[in-house]
Amino acid sequence: MSLISVGSMAFDAIETPFGKVDQIVGGAGTYIAYAASNFVQPVQQISIVGYDFPKAEMAELESRGVQLDGVEVVPDKKSFFWSGRYHMDMNTRDTLVTDLNVLADFKPVVPDQFQGADFLMLGNLAPATQLSVINQLKTRPKLIVMDTMNFWMDIALADLLAVLKKVDVLMVNDSEARQLSGEYSLVKAARKVMEMGPKFLVIKKGEHGALLFHDKHVFFAPALPLEDVFDPTGAGDTFAGGFIGYLAKTGDISFDNMKTAIIVGSAMASFCVEQFGPNRLKEITKADIDARIGEFVQLVNFDIDLS
Ligand code: AMP
Repeated sequence: MSLISVGSMAFDAIETPFGKVDQIVGGAGTYIAYAASNFVQPVQQISIVGYDFPKAEMAELESRGVQLDGVEVVPDKKSFFWSGRYHMDMNTRDTLVTDLNVLADFKPVVPDQFQGADFLMLGNLAPATQLSVINQLKTRPKLIVMDTMNFWMDIALADLLAVLKKVDVLMVNDSEARQLSGEYSLVKAARKVMEMGPKFLVIKKGEHGALLFHDKHVFFAPALPLEDVFDPTGAGDTFAGGFIGYLAKTGDISFDNMKTAIIVGSAMASFCVEQFGPNRLKEITKADIDARIGEFVQLVNFDIDLS
Protein backbone atom coordinates (compact mmCIF):
# COMPACT_ATOMS: atom_id res chain seq x y z
CA MET A 1 0.00 0.00 0.00
CA SER A 2 1.42 3.40 -0.89
CA LEU A 3 1.91 6.24 1.56
CA ILE A 4 2.25 9.98 1.04
CA SER A 5 4.03 11.89 3.81
CA VAL A 6 3.80 15.68 3.99
CA GLY A 7 5.92 17.65 6.44
CA SER A 8 8.80 20.00 7.05
CA MET A 9 12.39 19.07 6.26
CA ALA A 10 14.58 21.33 8.30
CA PHE A 11 17.62 22.23 10.29
CA ASP A 12 17.21 22.21 14.06
CA ALA A 13 19.32 23.56 16.91
CA ILE A 14 18.60 21.65 20.10
CA GLU A 15 19.59 22.08 23.71
CA THR A 16 18.79 19.43 26.31
CA PRO A 17 20.13 19.01 29.85
CA PHE A 18 22.52 16.45 28.33
CA GLY A 19 23.96 18.28 25.37
CA LYS A 20 23.60 20.77 22.59
CA VAL A 21 23.73 20.75 18.79
CA ASP A 22 23.78 23.94 16.73
CA GLN A 23 22.70 22.42 13.44
CA ILE A 24 21.25 19.00 12.81
CA VAL A 25 18.84 17.76 10.17
CA GLY A 26 15.26 17.63 11.43
CA GLY A 27 11.74 18.46 10.41
CA ALA A 28 8.53 16.53 10.93
CA GLY A 29 8.56 15.13 7.38
CA THR A 30 12.12 13.85 7.79
CA TYR A 31 11.26 11.94 10.97
CA ILE A 32 8.03 10.57 9.47
CA ALA A 33 9.89 9.30 6.40
CA TYR A 34 12.72 7.66 8.36
CA ALA A 35 10.23 5.89 10.62
CA ALA A 36 7.62 4.87 8.02
CA SER A 37 10.16 3.53 5.50
CA ASN A 38 10.91 0.65 7.87
CA PHE A 39 7.43 -0.67 7.13
CA VAL A 40 6.38 0.52 3.69
CA GLN A 41 8.21 1.59 0.55
CA PRO A 42 8.00 3.80 -1.31
CA VAL A 43 7.23 6.66 1.04
CA GLN A 44 6.12 9.47 -1.26
CA GLN A 45 7.49 12.63 0.32
CA ILE A 46 6.04 16.13 -0.14
CA SER A 47 8.08 18.99 1.33
CA ILE A 48 10.24 21.99 0.54
CA VAL A 49 13.93 22.67 1.27
CA GLY A 50 16.43 25.40 0.51
CA TYR A 51 19.83 25.28 -1.21
CA ASP A 52 21.46 24.35 2.08
CA PHE A 53 19.68 21.05 2.77
CA PRO A 54 22.35 18.31 2.59
CA LYS A 55 22.36 16.27 -0.63
CA ALA A 56 23.71 13.36 1.43
CA GLU A 57 20.55 13.40 3.57
CA MET A 58 18.39 13.31 0.44
CA ALA A 59 20.43 10.37 -0.85
CA GLU A 60 20.11 8.59 2.50
CA LEU A 61 16.32 9.00 2.39
CA GLU A 62 16.18 7.79 -1.21
CA SER A 63 18.21 4.72 -0.30
CA ARG A 64 15.43 3.86 2.15
CA GLY A 65 12.74 4.02 -0.51
CA VAL A 66 11.68 7.61 0.11
CA GLN A 67 10.65 9.20 -3.21
CA LEU A 68 11.57 12.86 -3.30
CA ASP A 69 9.75 13.96 -6.48
CA GLY A 70 7.40 15.99 -4.27
CA VAL A 71 10.23 17.80 -2.46
CA GLU A 72 10.76 21.26 -3.95
CA VAL A 73 14.30 22.59 -3.77
CA VAL A 74 14.44 26.40 -3.73
CA PRO A 75 17.84 27.48 -5.07
CA ASP A 76 18.06 30.92 -3.44
CA LYS A 77 16.53 30.42 -0.01
CA LYS A 78 17.42 28.66 3.21
CA SER A 79 15.67 25.62 4.66
CA PHE A 80 13.24 25.93 7.55
CA PHE A 81 15.10 26.39 10.85
CA TRP A 82 13.78 25.59 14.31
CA SER A 83 15.50 25.82 17.64
CA GLY A 84 14.31 24.55 21.00
CA ARG A 85 15.49 24.09 24.57
CA TYR A 86 14.21 21.26 26.75
CA HIS A 87 13.46 21.58 30.43
CA MET A 88 14.91 19.17 32.97
CA ASP A 89 11.88 16.81 32.73
CA MET A 90 12.45 16.52 28.91
CA ASN A 91 8.65 16.53 28.47
CA THR A 92 8.40 20.27 28.02
CA ARG A 93 10.42 22.64 25.87
CA ASP A 94 10.65 26.26 24.80
CA THR A 95 10.82 27.17 21.14
CA LEU A 96 13.66 29.67 20.81
CA VAL A 97 13.65 30.35 17.06
CA THR A 98 11.32 29.57 14.15
CA ASP A 99 12.74 30.81 10.84
CA LEU A 100 10.21 29.77 8.23
CA ASN A 101 12.51 30.57 5.27
CA VAL A 102 11.28 28.35 2.39
CA LEU A 103 8.30 27.16 4.43
CA ALA A 104 6.78 30.66 4.27
CA ASP A 105 5.95 30.16 0.57
CA PHE A 106 5.23 26.43 0.67
CA LYS A 107 2.53 25.57 -1.87
CA PRO A 108 2.72 21.79 -2.02
CA VAL A 109 2.15 20.17 -5.39
CA VAL A 110 1.18 16.50 -5.46
CA PRO A 111 3.14 14.85 -8.32
CA ASP A 112 0.97 12.85 -10.75
CA GLN A 113 2.78 9.64 -9.84
CA PHE A 114 1.71 10.09 -6.19
CA GLN A 115 -2.00 10.06 -7.13
CA GLY A 116 -3.90 7.01 -5.93
CA ALA A 117 -2.00 6.67 -2.64
CA ASP A 118 -3.85 4.61 -0.04
CA PHE A 119 -2.48 6.39 3.02
CA LEU A 120 -1.79 10.07 3.73
CA MET A 121 0.22 11.39 6.67
CA LEU A 122 -0.14 15.13 7.16
CA GLY A 123 2.69 16.30 9.40
CA ASN A 124 2.39 19.45 11.48
CA LEU A 125 2.05 22.36 9.03
CA ALA A 126 -0.34 25.26 8.44
CA PRO A 127 -3.83 23.73 8.20
CA ALA A 128 -4.41 25.47 4.83
CA THR A 129 -1.32 23.69 3.48
CA GLN A 130 -2.58 20.36 4.79
CA LEU A 131 -5.98 20.99 3.20
CA SER A 132 -4.45 21.87 -0.15
CA VAL A 133 -2.82 18.41 -0.30
CA ILE A 134 -6.12 16.66 0.51
CA ASN A 135 -7.90 18.71 -2.14
CA GLN A 136 -5.34 17.83 -4.84
CA LEU A 137 -5.88 14.09 -4.44
CA LYS A 138 -8.19 12.74 -7.13
CA THR A 139 -9.15 9.68 -5.06
CA ARG A 140 -9.51 9.92 -1.31
CA PRO A 141 -6.92 7.81 0.49
CA LYS A 142 -8.17 4.91 2.60
CA LEU A 143 -6.83 6.68 5.70
CA ILE A 144 -5.79 10.28 6.39
CA VAL A 145 -3.82 10.92 9.57
CA MET A 146 -3.02 14.46 10.69
CA ASP A 147 -0.75 16.03 13.27
CA THR A 148 -1.13 19.62 14.45
CA MET A 149 -0.10 21.87 17.34
CA ASN A 150 -1.32 24.63 19.69
CA PHE A 151 0.24 27.31 17.44
CA TRP A 152 -2.37 26.62 14.71
CA MET A 153 -5.18 26.56 17.27
CA ASP A 154 -4.09 30.07 18.28
CA ILE A 155 -3.72 31.62 14.84
CA ALA A 156 -5.66 29.50 12.30
CA LEU A 157 -8.51 27.80 14.16
CA ALA A 158 -11.08 28.15 11.36
CA ASP A 159 -8.71 26.51 8.85
CA LEU A 160 -7.86 23.81 11.37
CA LEU A 161 -11.53 23.01 11.95
CA ALA A 162 -12.02 22.74 8.17
CA VAL A 163 -9.20 20.16 7.82
CA LEU A 164 -10.43 18.22 10.84
CA LYS A 165 -13.68 17.52 8.98
CA LYS A 166 -11.68 15.72 6.27
CA VAL A 167 -9.34 13.47 8.25
CA ASP A 168 -9.73 10.09 9.93
CA VAL A 169 -7.12 10.26 12.70
CA LEU A 170 -5.91 13.31 14.63
CA MET A 171 -2.70 13.17 16.69
CA VAL A 172 -2.10 15.80 19.36
CA ASN A 173 -0.56 15.96 22.80
CA ASP A 174 -2.65 16.17 25.96
CA SER A 175 -2.47 19.95 26.37
CA GLU A 176 -3.44 20.43 22.72
CA ALA A 177 -6.44 18.09 23.09
CA ARG A 178 -7.52 20.18 26.08
CA GLN A 179 -7.03 23.46 24.23
CA LEU A 180 -8.93 22.29 21.14
CA SER A 181 -11.89 20.93 23.12
CA GLY A 182 -11.97 23.31 26.08
CA GLU A 183 -12.26 20.22 28.33
CA TYR A 184 -9.81 19.16 31.04
CA SER A 185 -10.94 15.52 31.14
CA LEU A 186 -9.24 13.73 28.26
CA VAL A 187 -12.28 11.46 27.88
CA LYS A 188 -14.56 14.47 27.40
CA ALA A 189 -11.93 16.16 25.24
CA ALA A 190 -11.73 13.08 23.00
CA ARG A 191 -15.50 12.96 22.58
CA LYS A 192 -15.61 16.62 21.55
CA VAL A 193 -12.67 16.35 19.17
CA MET A 194 -14.19 13.28 17.49
CA GLU A 195 -17.37 15.31 16.95
CA MET A 196 -15.23 17.77 14.95
CA GLY A 197 -14.49 15.14 12.26
CA PRO A 198 -11.82 12.54 13.02
CA LYS A 199 -13.20 9.14 13.99
CA PHE A 200 -9.98 8.31 15.81
CA LEU A 201 -7.95 10.46 18.17
CA VAL A 202 -4.44 9.76 19.42
CA ILE A 203 -3.40 11.74 22.48
CA LYS A 204 0.37 11.68 23.06
CA LYS A 205 1.64 12.09 26.58
CA GLY A 206 5.40 12.01 26.01
CA GLU A 207 7.15 9.73 28.48
CA HIS A 208 3.72 8.77 29.84
CA GLY A 209 2.62 7.00 26.67
CA ALA A 210 -0.30 7.51 24.33
CA LEU A 211 -4.07 7.01 24.26
CA LEU A 212 -6.12 5.93 21.26
CA PHE A 213 -9.81 6.87 21.27
CA HIS A 214 -12.48 5.61 18.88
CA ASP A 215 -16.21 5.72 19.43
CA LYS A 216 -16.64 4.49 23.02
CA HIS A 217 -13.34 2.60 23.03
CA VAL A 218 -10.03 3.64 24.50
CA PHE A 219 -6.62 1.96 24.37
CA PHE A 220 -3.47 2.95 26.25
CA ALA A 221 0.13 2.27 25.26
CA PRO A 222 2.92 3.12 27.68
CA ALA A 223 6.21 4.65 26.64
CA LEU A 224 9.17 2.37 27.28
CA PRO A 225 11.02 3.46 30.43
CA LEU A 226 14.48 4.24 29.02
CA GLU A 227 17.71 4.58 30.94
CA ASP A 228 18.83 7.56 28.87
CA VAL A 229 16.67 10.01 26.99
CA PHE A 230 18.95 12.23 24.99
CA ASP A 231 16.71 14.31 22.74
CA PRO A 232 12.91 14.07 22.42
CA THR A 233 12.81 16.18 19.23
CA GLY A 234 10.88 14.40 16.52
CA ALA A 235 9.51 11.71 18.83
CA GLY A 236 5.93 12.67 17.94
CA ASP A 237 6.66 12.60 14.21
CA THR A 238 8.55 9.32 14.50
CA PHE A 239 5.58 7.90 16.40
CA ALA A 240 3.30 9.07 13.58
CA GLY A 241 5.59 7.55 10.93
CA GLY A 242 5.69 4.19 12.71
CA PHE A 243 1.92 4.27 13.26
CA ILE A 244 0.92 4.99 9.67
CA GLY A 245 3.79 2.94 8.22
CA TYR A 246 2.55 -0.14 10.06
CA LEU A 247 -1.06 0.50 8.98
CA ALA A 248 0.06 0.92 5.37
CA LYS A 249 2.11 -2.28 5.55
CA THR A 250 -0.83 -4.31 6.86
CA GLY A 251 -3.56 -2.47 4.94
CA ASP A 252 -5.85 -2.93 7.93
CA ILE A 253 -7.39 0.21 9.45
CA SER A 254 -9.51 -1.46 12.14
CA PHE A 255 -9.38 -0.23 15.75
CA ASP A 256 -7.70 -3.51 16.75
CA ASN A 257 -4.92 -3.06 14.22
CA MET A 258 -4.53 0.57 15.26
CA LYS A 259 -3.76 -0.69 18.78
CA THR A 260 -0.79 -2.59 17.35
CA ALA A 261 0.15 0.47 15.28
CA ILE A 262 0.24 2.56 18.47
CA ILE A 263 2.71 0.10 19.99
CA VAL A 264 4.81 0.16 16.80
CA GLY A 265 4.78 3.98 16.84
CA SER A 266 5.79 4.01 20.51
CA ALA A 267 8.66 1.59 19.78
CA MET A 268 9.94 3.80 16.94
CA ALA A 269 9.69 6.91 19.14
CA SER A 270 11.68 5.15 21.85
CA PHE A 271 14.60 4.83 19.40
CA CYS A 272 14.30 8.42 18.24
CA VAL A 273 14.95 9.89 21.69
CA GLU A 274 18.15 7.87 22.22
CA GLN A 275 20.31 10.24 20.16
CA PHE A 276 20.21 13.75 18.79
CA GLY A 277 18.11 14.32 15.67
CA PRO A 278 17.23 11.35 13.47
CA ASN A 279 20.64 9.72 14.01
CA ARG A 280 19.41 6.69 15.92
CA LEU A 281 16.68 6.05 13.34
CA LYS A 282 19.39 5.64 10.70
CA GLU A 283 21.16 2.88 12.64
CA ILE A 284 18.36 0.54 13.59
CA THR A 285 17.54 -2.71 11.81
CA LYS A 286 14.36 -4.76 11.55
CA ALA A 287 15.74 -7.03 14.28
CA ASP A 288 16.18 -4.01 16.60
CA ILE A 289 12.60 -2.92 15.93
CA ASP A 290 11.18 -6.40 16.51
CA ALA A 291 13.14 -6.73 19.77
CA ARG A 292 11.92 -3.34 20.97
CA ILE A 293 8.30 -4.22 20.20
CA GLY A 294 8.89 -7.40 22.24
CA GLU A 295 9.99 -5.23 25.18
CA PHE A 296 6.67 -3.38 24.98
CA VAL A 297 4.79 -6.67 25.08
CA GLN A 298 6.76 -7.68 28.20
CA LEU A 299 6.18 -4.30 29.82
CA VAL A 300 2.40 -4.62 29.86
CA ASN A 301 1.96 -8.39 29.96
CA PHE A 302 0.57 -9.77 33.20
CA ASP A 303 -1.64 -12.59 34.42
CA ILE A 304 -4.54 -11.87 36.68
CA ASP A 305 -6.80 -14.29 38.48
CA LEU A 306 -9.61 -12.70 40.46
CA SER A 307 -11.19 -15.96 41.59
P1 AMP B 1 8.21 17.07 17.46
O1 AMP B 1 9.34 17.00 18.45
O2 AMP B 1 7.68 15.70 17.08
O3 AMP B 1 7.14 18.02 17.87
O4 AMP B 1 8.80 17.65 16.09
C1 AMP B 1 9.93 18.46 16.04
C2 AMP B 1 10.25 18.78 14.58
O5 AMP B 1 9.22 19.61 14.05
C3 AMP B 1 11.56 19.54 14.47
O6 AMP B 1 12.49 18.76 13.76
C4 AMP B 1 11.22 20.85 13.73
O7 AMP B 1 12.06 21.10 12.66
C5 AMP B 1 9.78 20.65 13.27
N1 AMP B 1 8.95 21.85 13.51
C6 AMP B 1 8.93 22.64 14.61
N2 AMP B 1 8.04 23.66 14.47
C7 AMP B 1 7.47 23.50 13.24
C8 AMP B 1 6.49 24.25 12.48
N3 AMP B 1 5.90 25.35 12.96
N4 AMP B 1 6.16 23.78 11.25
C9 AMP B 1 6.74 22.68 10.76
N5 AMP B 1 7.68 21.94 11.40
C10 AMP B 1 8.05 22.34 12.63
